[in-house]
Amino acid sequence: MLEEIYYKSLDNEITPNIALELVNSANQFELFDTADQLRKTIVGDKVTYVVNKAIDITDYCMIGCKFCSFRNHENYWMTEEEIDESIVQAKSVGATEICLFGGITEEMDINYYCNLIKNIKDSHDICLHALSPAEVYQTAKNSGITTYEALKMLRDAGMDTMTGASAEILVDSVREQICPNKLKTNEWSQIVKEAHDLGILTTSTIMYGSVESWEDRIEHMFILKEIQEETQGFTEFVPMTFLGENNELGKISNGATGIEDLKVHAISRIIFGKVIPNIQVSWVKLGLRMTQVALNCGANDIGGTMIEDKISTAAGGGFGGYLSTDKIKQLITDIGRIPQERTTKYELL
Ligand code: SF4
Repeated sequence: MLEEIYYKSLDNEITPNIALELVNSANQFELFDTADQLRKTIVGDKVTYVVNKAIDITDYCMIGCKFCSFRNHENYWMTEEEIDESIVQAKSVGATEICLFGGITEEMDINYYCNLIKNIKDSHDICLHALSPAEVYQTAKNSGITTYEALKMLRDAGMDTMTGASAEILVDSVREQICPNKLKTNEWSQIVKEAHDLGILTTSTIMYGSVESWEDRIEHMFILKEIQEETQGFTEFVPMTFLGENNELGKISNGATGIEDLKVHAISRIIFGKVIPNIQVSWVKLGLRMTQVALNCGANDIGGTMIEDKISTAAGGGFGGYLSTDKIKQLITDIGRIPQERTTKYELL
């Protein structure tokens, strides 16, 4: 273990330069071990998970991200009845969370989302983890209101938490290459801070492994850390590896290596320390065995059962179907850890 790094992380003293030096030159197994020890000290041996379902409302989208394999694939738009049926099915297997998002269109204004959210919440007692800063940005624009007003209306309609998706890499020169039509770094950060100010907790994410450098990844993580120090509104950090099937970016990037995947989880644990104590590994993106390894490199949460994840499966994630609660528990106990169901806001169940 890298003892000096372990203590610096606990004391919130890791700088971008230290982080960069670590990923470039430290013995990778010492790096993984340090992250694992930090995980043990900060959050213990429990591995948390949430029983949830992803509902992607539509695959129509006007944004055109170059890493996207999902948009305009099937050309569907779910009706309210279909969404309702989907939630009933999710609840029948114990879901406590619905992740509601999808493509972005000019028709989606604040009334569309508020009505949808209100109808769902009137009929179902379930946590609605919905939209992302990109959707909020466009919705506000479509409706001629500010993003703060949009968030307030969404919250009042019943949106419980917001996803931290659309962060991708929070470096504008990278965004220009991978998602030139999406909101910029400052806009993403501002919407997230506004959400936190309104009491809407969010996740934080990174989509790594396409064209960005380690410098970019680390800059991204420090932006998130700074926001968290100001607002304490992030529930977790979710690294998502780039999947390159059926998208433009996949033609020029092979994606991250397995070692890089593990390094991203490890360095995020070291950078965030106690500031963002929950580091998720996405089994949907990494697969089950790599998930078990990442849980030994700093991660302590496995995300959700994710009944359906069209976005990952479209990009070649062969794992985006459904993992039953029993399978999740077994995956965790098989590596000597303790499974613990949680809510979206990390209350233990
Ligand atoms: S990633 Fe999301 S915003 Fe970007 S094109 Fe795909 S559906 Fe649209």
